[in-house]
Amino acid sequence: MTGQAQSLYRKWRSQTFSDLVGQEAVIQTLRQAVAQARLTHAYLFSGPRGTGKTSTARLLAKMVNCTNPRDGEPCNTCLSCSEITDGRSTDVFEIDAASNRGIDEIRELRDRVRVVSAIGRTRLFIIDEVHMLTTEAFNALLKTLEEPPPNVLFVLATTEAHKIPATVISRCQRFEFRRIALRDIIARLQYVSDQEGLRTEPHALELIARAAQGGMRDALSLLDQARAFAGDAISAEAARSMLGMADPALVRGVIEFVAAGDTAGGLHRINHLAQSGIDLRQLANQLAELWRQLMLTRAGA
Ligand SMILES: [Zn+2]
Repeated sequence: MTGQAQSLYRKWRSQTFSDLVGQEAVIQTLRQAVAQARLTHAYLFSGPRGTGKTSTARLLAKMVNCTNPRDGEPCNTCLSCSEITDGRSTDVFEIDAASNRGIDEIRELRDRVRVVSAIGRTRLFIIDEVHMLTTEAFNALLKTLEEPPPNVLFVLATTEAHKIPATVISRCQRFEFRRIALRDIIARLQYVSDQEGLRTEPHALELIARAAQGGMRDALSLLDQARAFAGDAISAEAARSMLGMADPALVRGVIEFVAAGDTAGGLHRINHLAQSGIDLRQLANQLAELWRQLMLTRAGA
């Protein structure tokens, strides 16, 4: 695969803990656990999509098998690290529970778990979107979690922890992944843009970061789309069009119609915006944001 065809998210996925933005508390705890050899055998990573759950799981797999770790980071050059980076490691097994939700898949997983690594490595099993499993599958998983073989780690990742049975949760150490702060996403987008030779207006990156709503994966996917849409020079206007957002002057116009009590004028403007291809959900967000700013201004903030 060439660099051009590879998605920015895959290309710039965090390969070290210090690359992993916005989850400092989780990272610090995990690094300490690795350093002190106090890892537990099952982790539950919960939090919004695209906030680094599976990236962290892969980093954990790297750390426990790296032959030359430095300062709490994997070396990223040894055989084990390289295999994990390239997605061809037999020590990391990833299953998407959204499409493998039944008992048969979990039985198959259980059989794999029993196979011991020939060269003494720790194997890591990631079950993504684990809340999608059926009740029978959860029961089978619970048995495996209750009698874990040596040198096996489980990472259960979910966006909806409340759907996971308490019996399963009680077997795991739980980590909460937070939405990533806007400024952290903007900084990462700026870094990736610089590395990729993209010329981006700061406001363009802010628009993309806001649309990603705290998810780094979505932010990088949107940057990909912006590049496909606008080429290597990404203006704020291009980002706005790509996101289906309206010209701010036209959005302000809607509010002016409302302030003037001109219902017909306001509806006419919204209709005009809808027909020009604006995403109405984005328009609602833009209106809400503008109203918020107006209220803050009036309150003297
Ligand atoms: Zn290594």
